Amino acid sequence: MSGQAPRLEKKLRVGVLGATGLVGQRIVSLLADHPWFELTEVAASERSSGKTYAEAVRWHLDAPIPAVARDLVVRSLSPSLECDFVFSALDSSVAGGAEEDFARAGYPVVSNSRNHRMDPDVPLLIPEVNAAHLDAIPLQQKNRGYETGFIVTNPNCSTAGLVLVLKPLADAFGLEKIFVVTLQATSGAGYPGVASMDIQGNVVPFIGGEEEKMESEPQKLLGKWNGERFVDAGLGISAHCNRVPVLDGHLECVSVSLKKIASLREVREVLSEFEVSSEVAALPSALRNPVVVLEDENRPQPRRDVNAGNGMAAVVGRVRECPLLDIKLTLLSHNLVRGAAGAALLNAELLAARGLLNRNVRAGRRESLAESVSP
Ligand code: NAP
Repeated sequence: MSGQAPRLEKKLRVGVLGATGLVGQRIVSLLADHPWFELTEVAASERSSGKTYAEAVRWHLDAPIPAVARDLVVRSLSPSLECDFVFSALDSSVAGGAEEDFARAGYPVVSNSRNHRMDPDVPLLIPEVNAAHLDAIPLQQKNRGYETGFIVTNPNCSTAGLVLVLKPLADAFGLEKIFVVTLQATSGAGYPGVASMDIQGNVVPFIGGEEEKMESEPQKLLGKWNGERFVDAGLGISAHCNRVPVLDGHLECVSVSLKKIASLREVREVLSEFEVSSEVAALPSALRNPVVVLEDENRPQPRRDVNAGNGMAAVVGRVRECPLLDIKLTLLSHNLVRGAAGAALLNAELLAARGLLNRNVRAGRRESLAESVSP
């Protein structure tokens, strides 16, 4: 998508836990024809295990089920899969324990679920924002007695877009306070999610646990790893989260106070010129400029803008002065791609580029990078 992608000499074999769910399906779909990864295993609940993937899944994407996945037999959550690492898109009721079991059995686990996001030794990762947090992995392995396994997570779907937009503002001007109101799509609740009679022609002003996640996860993402622990960014954040009758795409109305005075023109420039590191730009799913700024006063809109940058962009519009804080803007991001499957895939690509997705290599020793990835 962007810079020159490194090449892996041999594709890494991937298992997807929770492969039948909305996020799992997106991961399966994004893995078809991936240059570095090949899908070899799918796993889900007892309801699905033993069936072929095509029999078990209630497929929601427009494109057909990838041929490589159709006939795979869905496995249970036993950590004995034929793969080099796993994605976890498991329901949070089972994700916590299952992810630990896989990590203990030696598998790198790239998770979407909330269970381990705020653990003091687990990186909560957005490669464009805090790639340095991967340095916590050796300590995690030491703390937990994991040999080659570990857990890395991506943030909650509404946090992902927000923090991608906050990062360049933090770097350029410093951040003090953030006030955010979300309008979140129904696919963010998994399938079948919110009952149609509750959401059609309606807005539900409550999403369990969501405001707490939006108020805590950015602190870790925009904070630092100091070699021993994560130090919070120390921001004031207030979030209101609402479910609206939109299929895909979380819209967020954000007001921000900055440490340094900035004009609206400077804010727009900093956002649209936000460029990721060359290491990240070279990953297959990365965008060199992941924040897209629109000028039309009635954009972004979920139906029209949700797939910007193949669903990996944060789309910003309506940058203007805020009478209470300093600036306000509207942002949109694809909850199932930027906020889930695409985010996990990008995390895995960064781990692969650093030679960390090989079950035979401890994170402290990165020699496999030079062997397996050539620029
Ligand atoms: P979903 O559609 O409800 O899918 C859940 C998956 O977990 C299915 O594959 C399901 O398998 C499996 N599962 C449920 N109970 C299980 C059990 N007891 N044992 C083994 N597998 C079990 O949910 P989703 O929206 O894809 O979300 C998946 C995870 O990602 C959740 O933790 C969610 O919080 C997180 N997430 C979601 C979004 C989003 O926008 N939807 C964004 C970010 C993060 P069966 O099909 O066999 O039941």
